Amino acid sequence: MPDPWTLRYRGFDPAEEGLREVLCAVGNGYVVSRGAAPEAAADGVHYPGTYLAGCYDRAESTVAGRVVTNEDLVNCPNWLPLTFRPVGGAWFAGPPAEQTVELDLRRGLLTRAALVVDGQGRRTRLVQRRLASQARPHLLALESTFTPENWSGVLEVRSALDGDVANTGVARYGGLAERHFASFGQGMEGDGLLWLEAAAAGSPLRIALCARTRAHRAEVTAECRDGWAAHVLTVQVQRGLPVTVEKTVALHTSRDRAIGTPLHASRLLAAEAGSFDDLLAEHTIRWAELWRRCRIEADFDGTGPLHLNLFHLLQTYSEHSIDLDVGVPARGLHGEAYRGHVFWDELFVLRLLNLRFPELARAVLRYRHRRLDAARQEAHRVGLRGAMYPWQSASDGREESQQLHLNPLSGRWLPDHSHLQRHVGSAVAYNVWQYYQATGDRDFLASAGAETLLEIARFWSSAASYDRGRGRWSIRGVLGPDEYHDAYPGADRPGLDDNAYTNLLASWVLARAQDTLDVLPGYRREELLERLSLDALELDRWQEVGRHLHIPFHEGVLSQFDGYQQLAELDWAAYRRRYPDLRRLDRILEAEGDSVNRYKASKQADTLMLWYLFSAREVRDLLRRLGYPAGHELLRRTTDYYLRRTVHGSTLSSVVHAWVLTRSDRRASWRYFRDTLAADLRDSQRGTTAEGVHLGAMAGAVDLLQRCYTGLEVREDALWLDPRLPSALGRLDLDLRYRGHWGLAITVDRRTVTVSLREDRQEPVLIRLRGTQAVIRPGEARRFHL
Ligand code: BGC
Repeated sequence: MPDPWTLRYRGFDPAEEGLREVLCAVGNGYVVSRGAAPEAAADGVHYPGTYLAGCYDRAESTVAGRVVTNEDLVNCPNWLPLTFRPVGGAWFAGPPAEQTVELDLRRGLLTRAALVVDGQGRRTRLVQRRLASQARPHLLALESTFTPENWSGVLEVRSALDGDVANTGVARYGGLAERHFASFGQGMEGDGLLWLEAAAAGSPLRIALCARTRAHRAEVTAECRDGWAAHVLTVQVQRGLPVTVEKTVALHTSRDRAIGTPLHASRLLAAEAGSFDDLLAEHTIRWAELWRRCRIEADFDGTGPLHLNLFHLLQTYSEHSIDLDVGVPARGLHGEAYRGHVFWDELFVLRLLNLRFPELARAVLRYRHRRLDAARQEAHRVGLRGAMYPWQSASDGREESQQLHLNPLSGRWLPDHSHLQRHVGSAVAYNVWQYYQATGDRDFLASAGAETLLEIARFWSSAASYDRGRGRWSIRGVLGPDEYHDAYPGADRPGLDDNAYTNLLASWVLARAQDTLDVLPGYRREELLERLSLDALELDRWQEVGRHLHIPFHEGVLSQFDGYQQLAELDWAAYRRRYPDLRRLDRILEAEGDSVNRYKASKQADTLMLWYLFSAREVRDLLRRLGYPAGHELLRRTTDYYLRRTVHGSTLSSVVHAWVLTRSDRRASWRYFRDTLAADLRDSQRGTTAEGVHLGAMAGAVDLLQRCYTGLEVREDALWLDPRLPSALGRLDLDLRYRGHWGLAITVDRRTVTVSLREDRQEPVLIRLRGTQAVIRPGEARRFHL
């Protein structure tokens, strides 16, 4: 990154192309299109994928002799293809002789400058600019300027819409169904517009694209066949004189609102769209708005990756996502990893969005609420009550976790038990409560929010069983966030008992359920109790379970789950010597005929997640409420213990460790922060970014600056601050939205914290900082000395 707003690549490196395509993707919350070269086809080096939020298709595959069904985020018909040739030459298929690719993060503009030399030595300079409009989310545009350097004559340009696409972006999924489109229609209209319509095979999804390709004084013909429609432009060019070709593509699907048919809507839009420069002008205005809303000025040398992370977050989820009924896909809309599914990663994203774009956070919560019935059915299916949110979900809220996964090291397909991560429901409840704390949006809480949270509480109460011997409640047969452990060694059924994180969160949810009822207006509370058939007896049970769940400890630390201390210690030194990278220790051990279930070894933060979600005081209070004495030492001991046994096989792990270490080891915290901030930029999980960004880590890294190093919390109707800037960070400046305020500015340096509120008709804000408190009114500023 030559400056904090530009990502630049010089030359062409086939080994890095997938990564570049992802990092150079352009999008707007409706669509994201990878930064593939326009002349490229999916060929193992390039992967020109385009993904539309919420557009999934279901297909059956046979793997290891079993029929499995998967729902995939569909790779859409390709809008991008564009190539050229001096007449008589071959169509340019890349790579160019020279090239520089530059992504302007401020404007969301991808520019490629290249030199192409054909077989006859004809040199053509090519400059291409591309955008996915943040102003009109259904529009994508590519402008190509050709300058013949040493020749004059006829230039042919072919601009196409290509339906011959498949989901082949992730090699590991090679054994699964790849084709999602069953039929196509295509053609060229009298007005010169090209169109292509595709219907999915396993869902009602239809997608229609309409392209306009224009150049001054060009003759245009069309080439169409099943699943393919192309414009061929013929234009006279003079040595040294540039010729510009503009391709503008409109895209709609059967999921869109306020349209007739997708094809009709695309035709209208493609016909009336302005020039590339017009589109760029309105697009730039929208990006300027977005950056204003995301202002975070941090005095350190990592502002480039900081902007890059925000950029991809805002391309995946934006105001254009709000009405699409979509969740937060763990890998963005940038690739096919995890098939575009939604996990619990919004937990890492919404904490940031609550204080920047609360309307986006609310849209995610509504996505969950619309799937409340599906979650109720999931609970019912396993004989429980309330709502059991699935570990992986996509279109309709049913469980989409894979049943088998491939270990590429051993070549074996193995049973996948990750769906036993019931903690995802607690993340949903946590997000509801945090959103309410940040916004004070009681209307939301009183409707969708409370209903969701109460049904999750009901699930935990029904999932707990009483252990007479212990005199406590247990939650059995689950997985914690550390997916490595999915069963006790040698056990014939999957799942573990009393995962500390799961149980403490369940206890927290049960307590918040009561708080939620308490803050609702009385008559609304009665309505909800009636609607959900919640009586005093059940509420009493919630209290009882919430206060008496079993939390395992050993050696003065929280045990990840009951029985954890009986696992063997891994010979870490020996494994580190044998394998330079232990992040997929589970695969390594399985390939050796062993199992990670036997060892005290974790993929990612599990127990430590508690101190990520709650302050040290809150964790202490939670434990004490459950009747466990929790001293000040618990956090330090538990951190030391698990840190030595965690391989960070998920990018989320570094976010959590950076957070947890802030108070005890600021240097280590900063190291984890730097790792996580640049995780995708550097592809630190080796090869995985090419399959999609890691959105949770991207947002989580920004949130470390926004909330962790400032010690910012929203609870008890106050905004709490307790800054601890790492030594590498001189100063932090943030603009937040909080409880209806659109201009709460916080500046933190080594000695002071200044909070100011823009003039507004809103209520004053209560700030609490290390034992002091102050009420700040709109138009006021207040400086605190540290
Ligand atoms: C992590 C999960 C995460 C998922 C999607 C997995 O590798 O273990 O915690 O939700 O990736 O990001």
